Amino acid sequence: MKRKDAIAHITVAGYHDDSRTAMRIYTENRISYQVYTEAYAKGAQLKSEGMACTCFQCKQRPASA
Ligand SMILES: [Zn+2]
Repeated sequence: MKRKDAIAHITVAGYHDDSRTAMRIYTENRISYQVYTEAYAKGAQLKSEGMACTCFQCKQRPASA
């Protein structure tokens, strides 16, 4: 997984409040802890702002939260 993709996945995990997945991606991709926490917080912020999630599952089912 490319670093950029790993960060994007952590952002999606943050959106879904999925800290287990985010932590797994973080540990598997040697991302700095600061980048990891910022990406996770960004995902949570997008959700709080009512933004649509960009992950594959949510695109398949746009009606579900
Ligand atoms: Zn999603």
